[in-house]
Amino acid sequence: MGKVWFVGAGPGDPELITVKGRDLIARAGAILYAGSLVSTATMRWAPAGCEIADSKDMALEQISAWLIEKAAGHETVVRLQTGDPTLYGALIEMVQPLDAAGVEVGVVPGVSSAMASAAAAVESLTLPEVTQTVILTRIEGRTPMPEGESLQELAQHHCTLCVFLSITLLHKVKEELLAAGWPADAPVLVVHKASWPDEEKIIRGTLADIRDKCRAEKVTSQAMIIISPTLGARQWPTLKKSKLYDAAFTHRFRRAVRVEGEKHE
Ligand code: SAH
Repeated sequence: MGKVWFVGAGPGDPELITVKGRDLIARAGAILYAGSLVSTATMRWAPAGCEIADSKDMALEQISAWLIEKAAGHETVVRLQTGDPTLYGALIEMVQPLDAAGVEVGVVPGVSSAMASAAAAVESLTLPEVTQTVILTRIEGRTPMPEGESLQELAQHHCTLCVFLSITLLHKVKEELLAAGWPADAPVLVVHKASWPDEEKIIRGTLADIRDKCRAEKVTSQAMIIISPTLGARQWPTLKKSKLYDAAFTHRFRRAVRVEGEKHE
């Protein structure tokens, strides 16, 4: 019996897979990748003779059956997932049947689209004295949100919100943020196909106009919505600097420099 590895393929750019993920692909006997969300260019590292299949038309039971069958014949089987496998990836639903079949499982993290979207737009999700917290969430659609996790409730923290799976529900995103006290001119960033070569679109707007801007750009899928008090900080004239690089701040790797006339703890 071989081992099934759930590997984060990253957000789209094949170069954003981890070295560990690429090495597993390079020695895989079989690879099952998640259809339109994982670039087929990632398969360029697969060895000759590797069995490669797309899971786009498979139900969960078929995916599990495929993985169990291939693990019987190959030492290394890879299930390639978009972004990071632990976020909205049905990971546990796929792991349980493997556990039941006695197949060993491993998970390799990936670059999530939330991180890739911030990177594409050169934005920081945290800033000193602005926000130090990031919430990864989605809005309620067909999947109900557990109690206490409506976007309106989460938005009351006024921290960074990375909203997955919600690009067709921008009107609801707007309603819930306004109800949580965000102003209509609060900046919003939408990134479509972050990191996909030649396909990425970066759309900047406000709660009031982001929906129209996305419509105009025909962005209706594979998009990350980021709402944050840090957006646009690259253009701010003054910033509170991070303590990490502050000359007056001692940490494990660096001793504080005593600045003439200033007192430090
Ligand atoms: N595990 C994935 C998320 C899967 S859910 C991750 O870590 O990124 C699918 C949702 O992720 C999409 O609806 C979209 O909101 C987001 N997404 C996935 N790939 C994306 C990309 N390249 N650019 C922007 N958003 C993306």
